[in-house]
Amino acid sequence: MKCSFCGLTIEKGTGKIFVRKSGKILNFCSTKCEKNLLKLKRKPRVIKWTNQHRKEVKK
Ligand SMILES: [Zn+2]
Repeated sequence: MKCSFCGLTIEKGTGKIFVRKSGKILNFCSTKCEKNLLKLKRKPRVIKWTNQHRKEVKK
């Protein structure tokens, strides 16, 4: 299971699961990621510390 925001692997028993009204399930490794995505509505690609951002840079 990976964090929906930063892309890091979440260990079993840790992290948070959030279900959107649309039925889409989001996994978060920390409240930091949850806040960034749900409250601040940031995109992982523009946040430096996410795996998704690092992938984009490599390309
Ligand atoms: Zn995360």
